[in-house]
Amino acid sequence: MPTDPDTGYDPSLGRKFVFVTGGVMSGLGKGITAASTGRLLANAGFDVTAVKVDPYLNVDAGTMNPYEHGEVYVLKDGGEVDLDLGNYERFLGTDMTFDHNVTTGKTYQHVIERERAGDYLGKTVQIIPHVTDDIKRRIREAAAGSDVCLVEIGGTVGDIESMPFLEALRQFANEEEPEDILFAHVTLVPYSQNGEQKTKPTQHSVKELRSIGLQPDVLVGRCEERLAPDVKEKIALFCDVPTDAVFSNPDVEDVYHVPLMVEDEGLDEFVMDRLGLTDEALPKPDRSTRWRELVTRDREKEIDVALVGKYALEDAYMSIHEALKHAGIHTRTEVNTLWVDADETEDQHAERLTTADAVVVPGGFGSRGTEGKIEAVRYAREAGVPFLGLCLGFQMAVVDHARNVLGLADAHSAEIDPETPHPVIDLLPSQSEAEDMGGTMRLGAHETEIKPGTLAAAVYDADACTERHRHRYEVNPKYIDELEADGLTFSGHADTRMELLERDDHPFFFGTQAHPEFRSRPDRASPPFVALVEAALESTDTTGRGADVRL
Ligand code: GLN
Repeated sequence: MPTDPDTGYDPSLGRKFVFVTGGVMSGLGKGITAASTGRLLANAGFDVTAVKVDPYLNVDAGTMNPYEHGEVYVLKDGGEVDLDLGNYERFLGTDMTFDHNVTTGKTYQHVIERERAGDYLGKTVQIIPHVTDDIKRRIREAAAGSDVCLVEIGGTVGDIESMPFLEALRQFANEEEPEDILFAHVTLVPYSQNGEQKTKPTQHSVKELRSIGLQPDVLVGRCEERLAPDVKEKIALFCDVPTDAVFSNPDVEDVYHVPLMVEDEGLDEFVMDRLGLTDEALPKPDRSTRWRELVTRDREKEIDVALVGKYALEDAYMSIHEALKHAGIHTRTEVNTLWVDADETEDQHAERLTTADAVVVPGGFGSRGTEGKIEAVRYAREAGVPFLGLCLGFQMAVVDHARNVLGLADAHSAEIDPETPHPVIDLLPSQSEAEDMGGTMRLGAHETEIKPGTLAAAVYDADACTERHRHRYEVNPKYIDELEADGLTFSGHADTRMELLERDDHPFFFGTQAHPEFRSRPDRASPPFVALVEAALESTDTTGRGADVRL
């Protein structure tokens, strides 16, 4: 958006802010609602970015258990963040940085460091103004250069943890022009036993917001079905907003349909109107054509992909599910994920594996489930089923090859079996010296050089690729020559680190030390995932596994 020379507006700062809070309960899809609104603003021609505020005391999500919080999402700068940032990247099509995730831990750590350095000149350091100032600074800096910045406050209004953030937003709104700020509050509208949509929880959570000085401009009701007109009117009356500021966000079959639903409700027009963006927006009729075409594309085929992991929770592998979906969009294929618990006994999981058209072994840490993962690699290798190994999955493919092809008994990763006679995966010598766990993790985007003429070169159609990483262990340099035999090739490397592997005795067997799932977008599917789906489609044509979608 061009800068107005008359107003002297600083183009390095975001102009407009949409603050998104949540009421009644967490896990409502507040992030998806915000990201969908952002997608529509981007469709209208604006540069949109987002900030996710996580009111927990952890400095970042790196140490958090995927069972509790879902996957740890990795940004290109190596930031380990909440999975919501992944949704923003996928919906907005942008790459964000660690600065786009503000946590209580980060803010307090910084304020306390400044206090220790004497920066506050002897003043009493307090939540207001020192912590709130730091929060406002972070939001403004993350918004720099964008037209609109969405700021989502994690958790639910009323939580003790989110209080300093809500207070910071209140101050922030006072410091900006009223037409530059919009407060959207997303709540749950449940049903009573007789099937009536109930507004009381929404009323209560808005009351809670107002008690801390925040009046929402927009209310979005999450519900199974659209809100009935009289329900919208009641919410408007009790929450002091016009009826046309109340929107439904009913359940849809696919999260990528939420922007279409929200557009149909008119939320984007309302937001643009309130923020004074309407005149600059692209004409409405063709704004969302591309997104609509992508997310409603017909599927001509259907395949089942086994995901062999240790957390029986979809959110723990969210980006992999999404990357498979994107590959499905790209290839017009319905990709179903078959969950296979790597911890189950061999027989149990063998049954599920044999019905799958492809096998994915994802990343992970620690020993639980690794034998099951190695068995899954072995099955895919021996049965000629298309295979994709991601990070730990790549490492387990090396272990399977060492043990079951080369006969190196009890070969393993030193992370999982420190006593193994053949540590084919190990810390590099330079890493072992710096034993401090936190310090040795290799994080973020790194470039890999690809060997010409390999499967990897065909997958990426390039001689290099840059993917995001999150790992500590590597293929042990002492074993590389020995491992590159009997079918296995390392087809990509970064200096002495082995990054990609493949087999020449298999229709599609591909491993990467990186996490390509984090760069996958609905309109830019990740090459290894596309190649996996294409290989599965090819093999279903010849083996009869998989079926045409019934219309
Ligand atoms: N635990 C392995 C390592 O640290 C793999 C990490 C991962 O899969 N993200 O190298």
